[in-house]
Amino acid sequence: MKRSATFPRGGIHPKEEKHLTKNLPVEVMPLPARVSLFLKQHIGEPCGFAVKKKQLPPINEEFLFTARHPGAIYQLLVNKKERVSEGELIGSIGKKLGANLHASVDGTVEGVMDVPHPVEGKAPAIVLATDPEAKPAVYSSIDWTRLSREELVAKITNAGIVGLGGAGFPTHAKVAIKPDVKMETLILNGAECEPYLTCDHRIMVEHGDEVVEGAMILLTVLGIDSCVIGVEDNKPDAVQALKTAISQNSSSLGFKITVQPLRVKYPQGSAKQLIQSITGKQVPEFGRSLDVGVIVQNVGTTRAVYQAVVLGKPLYEKTITISGRGIGRPANLQVKIGTSLTDIVNYLGGVKPNLARVVVGGPMMGAAVSSLDIPITKTTSGVIFLARDEIDTRDYGPCIRCGFCLDACPMGVEPNMIGLYLEAGRWNETEQFGMNACIECGSCAFVCPAKRPLVQFVKLAKLKHRFAQRESKKKQP
Ligand code: SF4
Ligand code: SF4
Repeated sequence: MKRSATFPRGGIHPKEEKHLTKNLPVEVMPLPARVSLFLKQHIGEPCGFAVKKKQLPPINEEFLFTARHPGAIYQLLVNKKERVSEGELIGSIGKKLGANLHASVDGTVEGVMDVPHPVEGKAPAIVLATDPEAKPAVYSSIDWTRLSREELVAKITNAGIVGLGGAGFPTHAKVAIKPDVKMETLILNGAECEPYLTCDHRIMVEHGDEVVEGAMILLTVLGIDSCVIGVEDNKPDAVQALKTAISQNSSSLGFKITVQPLRVKYPQGSAKQLIQSITGKQVPEFGRSLDVGVIVQNVGTTRAVYQAVVLGKPLYEKTITISGRGIGRPANLQVKIGTSLTDIVNYLGGVKPNLARVVVGGPMMGAAVSSLDIPITKTTSGVIFLARDEIDTRDYGPCIRCGFCLDACPMGVEPNMIGLYLEAGRWNETEQFGMNACIECGSCAFVCPAKRPLVQFVKLAKLKHRFAQRESKKKQP
């Protein structure tokens, strides 16, 4: 086995807690009675051709449903009370940056409603009532090697695939590389360094062949032959499953796909750290992975590419981890996108009396939520139900200048100084401490003995800078 690689600067070792779910095969959750599909589950514009009211073009009869939301009008592809089928296109992005939206169940459109959102409070979503008699959609496979690059990209675009690791960047836009960019390597992110989460682990173990085939499709689209799959070395069964799939699949088509074990260290799965661990190359502070000839895709996204191209199946289901000591039964689940946390909790035996916090995403970078009406989105990797003994509720105190946060930061940021300057009202001087390089990984806050909310400090400083820049642009003649 290859030596495990890692990134050189910073990083931490939080308790993994993956044993709660890592050996649990993915189970298919029964259909929920209702799903809520947000119009925006990705970077870019919401589905449905959002325009300012003043700019509304003549209504196109093809778009039958118009939902009003502050400042914008969404013209959607479905009408109220209309019947839709699993996998049917219900929200189109047209030529803008974004991702198509598909019905995740057979059912009836109840309407477009404001639904609780994990980050934005509430956001507009198409709500579908599920047909209880619905049968799962059936897909048959095709030989993708006969398709042209343009046909492969069209299938990825139509399927509404976005980065499933969390960022939600539309995949078809990510692989549309300009001809003058020198691409060398596709890196698949199978690090899954967030504590508790094991959904990518299970995807690699149970569907390693589909991940490898998805990688071959992406390599064909990118016009390169080299792919490295990075997997933290606490998942030896995933490494083995991928190696087996590679030996069975890739050699005949001449691709160079390898698996690189990675040392267990958070944030190993952050794109910049992953690239440095695997290639030794450092992405510039304001640069992108393309600047060092690399493109990174999550293993779940890569499997979704396989499903879109080979099976013609759009992205409307998601493998997620439900874990923590506050849930009745931890599990890895395949759920319909739009399923509410309430339905998931009921399926897994309810919450425990000692439940203290619900976090959507991993505990390091996820968002604490106060409502179980929140639906699963394309980018939800898991939901963690933390019991009282799994969280630290102490108040934060003054900085004791221990420097632990500086040692933990993988980006060389000085979050201690950003916090102190912010508290002193000097947020406009925080750029000098590396504010823009911060990847918001939370390593600094994790090690801080004073429990200072360092990520929030950095986020607030960034926000204030952005706001000030916008205001000064407005004042320019
Ligand atoms: S959140 Fe930002 S400042 Fe804190 S450790 Fe991560 S990169 Fe560094
Ligand atoms: S770890 Fe906390 S207490 Fe220590 S220097 Fe950083 S901010 Fe200050």
